[in-house]
Amino acid sequence: MSEVLVLVDHVDGEVKKVTFELLSAARRLGEPAAVVVGAPGSAAKAKESLARFGAAKVYVAESDEAASLLVTPKVDVLAALVGSASPAAVLVSATAEGKEVAGRLAVRVGSGVLADVVDLDGEGVATQSVFGGAYTVKAKVTTGVPVISVRPGAVEAEEAAGAAAEETVEVPSVDPARAVRITRREPVTGGDRPELTEASVVVSGGRGVGSADNFALVEKLADVLGGAVGASRAAVDSGYYPHQFQVGQTGKTVAPQLYIALGISGAIQHRAGMQTSKTIVAVNKDPEAPIFEIADFGVVGDLFQVAPQLTEEITKRRG
Ligand code: FAD
Repeated sequence: MSEVLVLVDHVDGEVKKVTFELLSAARRLGEPAAVVVGAPGSAAKAKESLARFGAAKVYVAESDEAASLLVTPKVDVLAALVGSASPAAVLVSATAEGKEVAGRLAVRVGSGVLADVVDLDGEGVATQSVFGGAYTVKAKVTTGVPVISVRPGAVEAEEAAGAAAEETVEVPSVDPARAVRITRREPVTGGDRPELTEASVVVSGGRGVGSADNFALVEKLADVLGGAVGASRAAVDSGYYPHQFQVGQTGKTVAPQLYIALGISGAIQHRAGMQTSKTIVAVNKDPEAPIFEIADFGVVGDLFQVAPQLTEEITKRRG
């Protein structure tokens, strides 16, 4: 069975959930082989969880330089592995960095790239969300090793036994002129809340929330559900919530189990970032709001009444 390379998304060996989703998708195409590029010691930390989600092998490409440079070492390592391991495909997460790795790698190895994939079958046919989510298309790479970026949250992460045998890969040294150095990292989590793109519940507020202070109501509902807080661009542009929490075409893409939209009209650019969520609940006082076209459950009502009631009821039931 051919290997399927999965680029591990991690911070100092702490593996992000999207990697487990990629490993699950990779199993449909062949034998998953995780590729850890980072600081020395990262793979040792990551190995157990990678094996638990089916990694048969872990390629370890570690160096101080690999940890301090953005994108380039990952592309170099993956390009070398495409040459030596002849994989059936390379999977990366459809994050900002993952998409850049995918594009550069595809050019480097002369193959096709499929971006923002939301599903993948055993024949390598990918379902993609394109044009800001306005269309869903099926596509397949027919030249070279397919490079596929998979949207976080789109594929279920399923555990499977893997052996995770280690193989060391040399990290090619990078010409400083071609490299972007990481100068510092800032956590984007809002307090104890999960990271927006990793959360299984996201509660987002829009212009209808009305003010930065009122966002406390969105946060309270997110907190009783153990979820992350998101915001529409109108809410961000109005200064109600920081930009790093924006969901949509020019913000983050999320695909949680549950997405609750409070006071969001459902413009195409917002939908682009959340419409592949498993269950969508919308609260809007306008029965004609476009968000109801994609909502699984809709409440036509005032969010200032509905959201606190929801928070109270969930708190009660959780006892
Ligand atoms: P509005 O459209 O103003 O909707 C507010 C909603 O709140 C209304 O439906 C109203 O009925 C409801 N409401 C008001 N009061 C209450 C209440 N008390 N109770 C219940 N409901 C209430 N948008 C994004 O979100 N993300 C993006 O990444 C993004 N990228 C963009 C990129 C480009 C190039 C462009 C042109 C636009 C982009 N937009 C993006 C903006 C997008 O077009 C919309 O303007 C934006 O999503 C609207 O945000 P909203 O739904 O919060 O506000």
